Amino acid sequence: MEFLKELGIQSHNAGAATGADWLPGKGTHIRSYSPVNGALIATVGSTGRDEYETVLRTAAAAFEQWRLVPAPQRGEVVRQIGEALRGKKDALGRLVSFEMGKSLQEGWGEVQEMIDICDFAVGLSRQLYGLTMHSERPQHRMYEQWHPLGITGIISAFNFPVAVWSWNAMLALVCGDVCVWKPSEKTPLSAIACQRIIAEVFTRNQVPEGACCVINGGREVGQWLAEDGRVPLVSATGSTAMGKAVGVTVAARLGRCLLELGGNNAIIISQHADLDMALIGSVFGAAGTAGQRCTTTRRLIIHEAVYDNFKERLVKAYGQLSIGDPLDERNHVGPLIDKAAVKMYEEAIAACKEQGGHFVVEGSVLAGAGYESGCYVRPCIAEVGADYPVVQTETFAPILYLIKYSRLEEAIAIQNNVPQGLSSAIMTTDLREAERFLSAAGSDCGIANVNIGTSGAEIGGAFGGEKETGGGRESGSDAWKAYMRRQTNTINYGTRLPLAQGIRFDI
Ligand code: NAD
Repeated sequence: MEFLKELGIQSHNAGAATGADWLPGKGTHIRSYSPVNGALIATVGSTGRDEYETVLRTAAAAFEQWRLVPAPQRGEVVRQIGEALRGKKDALGRLVSFEMGKSLQEGWGEVQEMIDICDFAVGLSRQLYGLTMHSERPQHRMYEQWHPLGITGIISAFNFPVAVWSWNAMLALVCGDVCVWKPSEKTPLSAIACQRIIAEVFTRNQVPEGACCVINGGREVGQWLAEDGRVPLVSATGSTAMGKAVGVTVAARLGRCLLELGGNNAIIISQHADLDMALIGSVFGAAGTAGQRCTTTRRLIIHEAVYDNFKERLVKAYGQLSIGDPLDERNHVGPLIDKAAVKMYEEAIAACKEQGGHFVVEGSVLAGAGYESGCYVRPCIAEVGADYPVVQTETFAPILYLIKYSRLEEAIAIQNNVPQGLSSAIMTTDLREAERFLSAAGSDCGIANVNIGTSGAEIGGAFGGEKETGGGRESGSDAWKAYMRRQTNTINYGTRLPLAQGIRFDI
């Protein structure tokens, strides 16, 4: 496989890096199997406790220097990372696709997202603005400025093996922070490839060793980061269960958390919807990436007047989905990440049936030629009650639930009545409906779209969600503020010392 060679992936790879320098990874080896064909791609060391200490010490030392580099110069390094990623887009996209199982188009799309965030961060490096305020005291000036925070710990999930890291790391770098990345143990090779790409840029620019580190390993390595008082910010992407554990640990030491957790996303399909558009948005949103996006469409809330018609069209469209090797561009749906995910899919289907769900497209695990990995499943659709326990939970697989509604307020209530609050959408050509959905009495999610599905966000907006999705925001808009500390400065250039609020203190 040429792309592995191009990215410097060997049959066995060191597990941790402080930048250009690699540490073997003294813990248990991680074996990375491709869900595409079940083949062992390569092994990776996992970070030992002493290696973790080396990484943290190197990162802390790098921060002392990096925070003093002017932000636009930090941006110039990130610009070069973007260039390096452009050069490796094909190979890295292929690795992401092969290791995670998403389509090649989406693998390349993920690398494009990395390039986009680099471009965004370069501009941001000249726009880390603070406000100035008018002081209530004469001959005083008051303003705020943003300083680098320190080490940003990044814990990432398997389903976006590289993009989510770059959302965090590129912003953190221009903000003057250094990064320690704990990638998913299910996709360690994609992380190693990224580290090799940026290390070249860092060496060329004499960026201090430790500015961007990687520590491969399982959840215990993530826990070390969460517990570590030297890490002021932990940005963690993954399941709500993980977020609850990390959130509590970081809060116990009064650290900062940026949590990007599970979703349970719905599209409301109104009687005023353009049903052709609604169909594409729904099928891509529910079956794309084999249902393994945090923004995957899990629920369709359909108006009773168009319910039967739309259900029929959905069933027909699902019949046309081709499932198979995601690197073959003719296929729409690739595999789930591993057999544990397949088991969760089967369990959710069984639970749905038990709770009264009626499947209009049956799910099954595929076997035979092309499906040897045992990770390919058929996307399925069930008619359900909105309150079924299985509908309230996120199953990371292509299971789509259909719910009928008669009034918009009812549809919005159904859409909001789940523990998660990541992404939401309405399909309608009625302006009043759209605006009600977007109003304060509308969707309670971090993302609310009109005539667009729930998945496929752009980097320019702040990304994240409410409730059990964790409340974090990363990527665009002013998400950069999470990576910096705000300092309010008041300067007295007068000859007297008046106190605020007119308080007198005569001596
Ligand atoms: P996961 O929670 O199993 O693992 C995510 C990461 O957390 C991994 O690196 C894992 O090693 C680490 N981890 C797990 N438990 C930990 C603990 N107690 N302490 C520290 N680290 C720990 O999630 P996954 O299966 O890799 O990814 C799928 C989940 O991620 C889904 O729920 C999905 O919705 C969510 N996700 C959310 C977003 C978002 O932006 N909201 C984006 C991508 C994925």
